[in-house]
Amino acid sequence: MSQLVYSSKINKIRTFALLLIFAGILLMYGGLLTRKFEWLMLLFFVLGVLFVLFSCVVYLWIGMLSTKAVPITCPNCEKPTKMLGRVDACMHCKQPLTLDKKLEGEEFDEKYNKRRYNKEERKNRKK
Ligand SMILES: [Zn+2]
Repeated sequence: MSQLVYSSKINKIRTFALLLIFAGILLMYGGLLTRKFEWLMLLFFVLGVLFVLFSCVVYLWIGMLSTKAVPITCPNCEKPTKMLGRVDACMHCKQPLTLDKKLEGEEFDEKYNKRRYNKEERKNRKK
């Protein structure tokens, strides 16, 4: 499947923060390996600490963003999820979601439009 997988923004930032922590730990480990060169070890350690600190800032930022996110129920998997901004994806099934009909088709491919269109039709039928 060559279809673009659009993952939730909050999940993306969370993954980024986790990667930062791993990078920080790896850098500090690199510092241990280069003990022989004091300046190199120090450089690795300082960079490692900076990465870990930055990831803490990112985690705080996610916390702030989560309070602004709109809680909704996903129309596809019917699980509760949170939306950031006008266009986002479900955290559980990666279903693209939008609050603004004008933005439909702007960021997603034709498959999305069709799926979205089908969904709208189903909703209309229920009414
Ligand atoms: Zn879903």
